[in-house]
Amino acid sequence: MKLLKEKVMTEGIVLSDQVLKVDSFLNHQMDPVLMREVGAEFARLYAGEKITKVLTIESSGIAPAIMTALELDVPMIFARKHKSLTLRDDILVEKVYSFTKRETNEITVSKKFLNKDDRVLIIDDFLANGEAAFGLARVVEQAGASVVGIGIVIEKSFQPGARLLEEAGYRVDSLVRIASLENGTVTFV
Ligand code: 5GP
Repeated sequence: MKLLKEKVMTEGIVLSDQVLKVDSFLNHQMDPVLMREVGAEFARLYAGEKITKVLTIESSGIAPAIMTALELDVPMIFARKHKSLTLRDDILVEKVYSFTKRETNEITVSKKFLNKDDRVLIIDDFLANGEAAFGLARVVEQAGASVVGIGIVIEKSFQPGARLLEEAGYRVDSLVRIASLENGTVTFV
């Protein structure tokens, strides 16, 4: 996606060889025009797939996910993050290790919002090791629903997430793919 690539080039801050900061348009301040384009692109990629729900994880996935859901005319659900939780039987729970926070959170989705007939498109802001996407996929599968695909705004292709998800049989669509963040520079695939 040209507009997204330009944003990453002009506003992305390389924090290390592993981490890109994009807090001016995605992770803190959000660019609604860009998010609308992102939503339109995911909707185009999944047109005809009979998606019934878009699922993401709070908080940075919410903007791209809601714009995608708006385009596809389906509800959007965001999994909530908790550090610890008393188990309740009306929620789906999975453990997810956070790449940026370096801690394990439990993510939860209310059972009433996912059922076995749902065809779910998972959306997230970044893909690194795939922990968040695998956790969301497990939530969908716990509900007996189907993961149709995983839409990622920024994939760091030098980390193993995309490969692991594809090896597990998931369709992955990333709008930009970064080959390297070495020497403080963003290099696209
Ligand atoms: P994964 O679960 O694939 O290892 O990492 C993806 C999650 O970690 C995303 O939900 C995102 O919030 C966060 N993340 C991973 N890498 C980066 C990065 O380089 N920059 C930012 N801002 N977030 C990242």
